[in-house]
Amino acid sequence: MNTINGNCLCGAIHYSSQLAPLSVAVCHCSDCQKQSGSAFSVNLLVPAEGFVVEGTSLGCYTKAGGSGLPVKRYFCAGCGSALYSEVATMPGVLAVKAGTLANPASVTPNLHLWCSAAQPWVVIDRTLPCFEQTPV
Ligand SMILES: [Zn+2]
Ligand SMILES: [Zn+2]
Repeated sequence: MNTINGNCLCGAIHYSSQLAPLSVAVCHCSDCQKQSGSAFSVNLLVPAEGFVVEGTSLGCYTKAGGSGLPVKRYFCAGCGSALYSEVATMPGVLAVKAGTLANPASVTPNLHLWCSAAQPWVVIDRTLPCFEQTPV
């Protein structure tokens, strides 16, 4: 049974995994703000092993992240939905955009990254672990 199921806005790309997410991180970095068109992205950290992507319209854009190492951002080239990222500082782990899950309510964020770049009107739950940048 799949633990993780999701798709892009147009439905051309579907992803799944039988492995549970390692954690759920809210990232306030400026690149996530740009890519999501929002104030932050909510990322499931998922083992790359066993992550299955189906569909032919997968696009990829690579840019150095805050660490200076590359972040490969995958999206649907048909509808533009941001789907997941491969972050060089986290080998073997993918950051999957929680808003693309079939059931986003099934996950709850448990840490915040790049709080130093958060918009002033975003309310951060400071009872959770909060990193000014990234822990790695
Ligand atoms: Zn799409
Ligand atoms: Zn980010």
